[in-house]
Amino acid sequence: MTIAQAVHDRADAFVRSPHKLLIGGRWIEAAAGETFATVDPATEKVLAEVGRGRAEDVDRAVRAARAAFADGSPWRRMTPSARGRLLWRIGDLLEEHVDELAMLETLDNGKPYTIALGDVRGAADLFRYMAGWPTKIEGATVPISSLAMPGEYLAYTQREPVGVVGQIIPWNYPLLMASWKLAPALACGCTVVLKPAEQTPLTALRLGQLLQEAGLPDGVVNIVTGFGDTGAALTAHADVDKVAFTGSTEVGKKIVEAAAGNLKRLTLELGGKSPIVVHADADLENAAVHAAGAIFYNQGQSCTAGSLLYVHRSVFDDVVGRVAEEAARLKVAPGTDPGADLGPLVSHEQFAKVLGYVDSGRAQGAEVVVGGHRVGDRGFFVEPTVLTNTTPGMSVVREEIFGPVVCAMPFDSLEEIVASANDTRFGLAAGVFTRDLSKAHRTARLLRAGTVWINTTYHVFDAAMPFGGYKESGWGREMGSQVLDNYLETKSVVTAL
Ligand code: NAP
Ligand code: MG
Repeated sequence: MTIAQAVHDRADAFVRSPHKLLIGGRWIEAAAGETFATVDPATEKVLAEVGRGRAEDVDRAVRAARAAFADGSPWRRMTPSARGRLLWRIGDLLEEHVDELAMLETLDNGKPYTIALGDVRGAADLFRYMAGWPTKIEGATVPISSLAMPGEYLAYTQREPVGVVGQIIPWNYPLLMASWKLAPALACGCTVVLKPAEQTPLTALRLGQLLQEAGLPDGVVNIVTGFGDTGAALTAHADVDKVAFTGSTEVGKKIVEAAAGNLKRLTLELGGKSPIVVHADADLENAAVHAAGAIFYNQGQSCTAGSLLYVHRSVFDDVVGRVAEEAARLKVAPGTDPGADLGPLVSHEQFAKVLGYVDSGRAQGAEVVVGGHRVGDRGFFVEPTVLTNTTPGMSVVREEIFGPVVCAMPFDSLEEIVASANDTRFGLAAGVFTRDLSKAHRTARLLRAGTVWINTTYHVFDAAMPFGGYKESGWGREMGSQVLDNYLETKSVVTAL
């Protein structure tokens, strides 16, 4: 594959344009006039300056979202069918601009262009899936048999949008996470203030332009770029009805505290430390290829990354050897290189953190089978890394590394492996490899995780499939019909007949 010059040119044109905040349908500078730099992690050079919103900007954005939500506003008057058409149109626009958006993502985040293309297509899919929902959000009639208040009644429920929603997203799948958040909120009729991650603000801003092009009324989606204090202002704001967050478990816990002020509704998509279990009877080549993909895809910067590889002792050397071969084969290069399998990590902070984990593993007795070093001397590139001799107490085993580092450990029995795989504060995802159908489903049943992939790659996501975590991996589910509950209130209405 080659990437056409026209694609670079379109992305460059957007990069070079001014990057302001979207509030009430207008692109405006931050109130204090501040900006911050977003960096190309492949070159370490500043890519663009972006408006730095603060609490005052968040407040303006919340007021715009509240006004757009007011009874009689264009958004509230829009029929469900028209809302569905609009969502479909957004999906079409994402697809029409797939190359440009993917290149922007590659420049800002570092990820390989081929992966970024997949992200944009996933985003388009989700808007289209959600386009089908506005016409199907229904209440019910409810039979009443109250003894305390006997009488003849007509009772029904209706589902109403929860109101003004604050959405805070991370840098690992910037456009995709913006879409996971926005599409269901809009399907339900909410209005939104979106806060992209400071490392990767560009695709959300471009999406803001496309939302306007699609005909979304002013103020329905507001975008305030900035840092953690911007997100904090949003979570603390008394006129925000709900916050949806994806990011670290640590910040997730701060948001729980901040939300207590007005008891805003909260959904949280947090970290993970996800196991892969390879039984002795698995197709070992298939298992090894997918185990490698589970951790190295997107440089390991996935909340679901398969960072713990448990392999039956009888096939441990074989499988780990194959994963290591795959790690050595993968090409680490700038995301704009069409042959890149892994790009750079998103930031110097993540780069230092990931290499720090590898060092701590080494110091505690882990063996580095392959990888473990920086690639080159410019850009935040890290080799795909396989560690063995790791033990349950090590920080590389317990904590989310969020980089291309997997800890491989042998096991002897199903009971033992289920106990080890569940011995984590997280519960986001898991993978199972075996040719034995009942063992596969039995393992899936015993693992405390929100998604289990059997004999297939990690990262099979679908707009129709709920996604979310057990335990400290979060609250609530995204995608599928279940996500609608995040953005709806239920009202019961009772009439005496
Ligand atoms: P993070 O701090 O949780 O950032 C996620 C989002 O929350 C960003 O938009 C961030 O803003 C915002 N934020 C930060 N502090 C906030 C606060 N007090 N109140 C409200 N919003 C706040 O994640 P990170 O620091 O970028 O990454 C750290 C670790 O988080 C990673 O190493 C990884 O382990 C984990 N992580 C997990 C996921 C996931 O998908 N589950 C995604 C990303 C990171 P700014 O970035 O602009 O400051
Ligand atoms: Mg950047």
